[in-house]
Amino acid sequence: MTRHALISGASIAGPALAHELAARGWRTTVLERAPRLRDEGQNVDVRGAAREVVRRMGLEDTLLAAGTGEVGLRFVDDAGGRVAEFPAGENDSDGGTAEMEILRGELSRVLYERTREHTDYRFGEQIADLADHGDHVTATLQGGERIDADVVVVAEGTHSRTRSLVLPDADTTELGLHIAYLTIPRTADDDRWWRWHTAAGSRSTSLRPDNRGTTRAMLAFVSDVRGLGELDRDDQILILRRTFADAGWEAPRVLAALDDAPLYFDAVGQVRLDRWSAGRTVLLGDAAWATGPFGTGTSLALVGAHVLAGELGTRSDVPTALARYEEIVRPSAQRAQDEVKPLAIRAMNPRSTAAVKLQRAVLGVAAPVSDKLGGLVGRLTRPPADRFALPDYPAA
Ligand SMILES: Cc1cc2nc3c(=O)[nH]c(=O)nc-3n(C[C@H](O)[C@H](O)[C@H](O)COP(=O)(O)OP(=O)(O)OC[C@H]3O[C@@H](n4cnc5c(N)ncnc54)[C@H](O)[C@@H]3O)c2cc1C
Repeated sequence: MTRHALISGASIAGPALAHELAARGWRTTVLERAPRLRDEGQNVDVRGAAREVVRRMGLEDTLLAAGTGEVGLRFVDDAGGRVAEFPAGENDSDGGTAEMEILRGELSRVLYERTREHTDYRFGEQIADLADHGDHVTATLQGGERIDADVVVVAEGTHSRTRSLVLPDADTTELGLHIAYLTIPRTADDDRWWRWHTAAGSRSTSLRPDNRGTTRAMLAFVSDVRGLGELDRDDQILILRRTFADAGWEAPRVLAALDDAPLYFDAVGQVRLDRWSAGRTVLLGDAAWATGPFGTGTSLALVGAHVLAGELGTRSDVPTALARYEEIVRPSAQRAQDEVKPLAIRAMNPRSTAAVKLQRAVLGVAAPVSDKLGGLVGRLTRPPADRFALPDYPAA
């Protein structure tokens, strides 16, 4: 009999899993709380083992063609002058800008387009309750509909609600970094560089090119206040306006666009759990192991989806497959979390004017030798997805 997976969350992990399970003969239903596929956010990169996953999915060329065309990362001073430049990487792993750098929304759209024919997508829906009967799970949706499945996968991101039905003690640890991602009109001065400006007060503004004729802006700040991610949009906008009022460079332009811009506000957090599954329900992607947006979340989500589908596809006992998936992916996820150091967040977001000057001086010295440094730093900081030995699952 065809096995059925109910997946909650249609960003990256959810649709990637639907792709991989459908290829192994599973029936898939994907729920998404938002009324439509979400387009907000900026570039994410697909590195290391995740590149191999998209190769196995047959998506590599499509994703490369949908890239943003960003040529690298340039730190700028208050007048927009160059402080330091780090050109894009030329392979699976190098550089601040990866070779496969794609908008999160584009990657999500490609995965959705590839799966929509054989997946039942339900937008504006979410799980209200779960009952595990041992040989199947019944999910009750908020509207009252009941759906039976062999496995339920929660891929709802860092702030997942359904997670608490599975693991009631799950908690998110905020790291103090807050990032607002906006899509704003492009101007003639916006080039192909990711331009990054640091201002005193632990604030930064950055602008990145996209392949949609718009510019992706990011306002990032460090604050000890917690719970800002749960505020409503108007309150978040007010905080951004007050925080960035005197941040300089292009901040006034970004603030001016705030009211109309698609906005995604993230109080960056990590999720650390003792286990990722209970019975026939399992967590996947940021919902299971959020690391913070430091270049690993998307790659790990793709790798996790591939491994989960691989295990479910080769084992008839669902709990055993879920345990094996966790055993394979957990070390990489944990390493990615451990590599995020609060000190590094502070160093990237200096508080005093003197510290901003020092940061610029250090970047200026590092940039010309970044090729050589890159080898060393890369070895030390390479996203864990790079160091992941992907199991060989039977071809889907
Ligand atoms: C709108 C958006 C913009 C982002 N922008 C960036 C970015 O610019 N840079 C970056 O590094 N990372 C960004 N991220 C995070 C990044 O996508 C993830 O770190 C990574 O790709 C792993 O993805 P995920 O699918 O596990 O979780 P996420 O990408 O967080 O997706 C979770 C999905 O689940 C949905 N959802 C949440 N709760 C429920 C529920 N109860 N029922 C049903 N669906 C639910 C959400 O709407 C979302 O579509 C963004 C995430 C989102 C949702």
